[in-house]
Amino acid sequence: MTIEEVKASIRNIADFPIPGIQFKDLTTAFRAPESLRWMYNEMVAHYKDMGITKIVGIESRGFILAPGVAVGIGAGFVPIRKPGKLPADTISVSYAKEYGTDTIEIHRDALCADDVVVIHDDLLATGGTMAAAIELVRKAGVKKIYISFLVELDGLKGREVFPKDVEVYSLIHFD
Ligand code: AMP
Repeated sequence: MTIEEVKASIRNIADFPIPGIQFKDLTTAFRAPESLRWMYNEMVAHYKDMGITKIVGIESRGFILAPGVAVGIGAGFVPIRKPGKLPADTISVSYAKEYGTDTIEIHRDALCADDVVVIHDDLLATGGTMAAAIELVRKAGVKKIYISFLVELDGLKGREVFPKDVEVYSLIHFD
């Protein structure tokens, strides 16, 4: 499987969910066994010897590969969820969206000071969601943070909003 074949397995939906957005539909890549395995193998190969203790997935598309990769590298899985979904005591961060604000939450006891964490989401657009997730994980308190995406939309320059000491890893790039 080549990276170009994996890229071709991602379906583009024009004007979804609103006019002007080119939506990258990864469900077509996930349903193709070779594409799914390629994404899994790439992530495991990249993170396996980095001392990662937890992969933190962002609801909801960050939940698709994160738990599998966590098993593959011998790490745990921790969810970041939308408000009101996590049952125990939480920490939260609110951030500005194009229209209004959004809030994300993590369990207060999910991470500890010795954790080396990968925060994972399916796609990097403006970077607003991941920047908030980094702030949330920093609030929780960990030793080191890495961030990972399956797809990065280079033209939106989302990676520029992240703190400079956080390594960004994206498998597939679109203009
Ligand atoms: P952002 O905070 O702008 O980086 O947006 C990232 C989140 O929105 C990710 O969780 C993506 O699932 C979703 N998203 C934003 N833009 C797109 C797009 N063009 N295609 C698919 N998903 C997108």
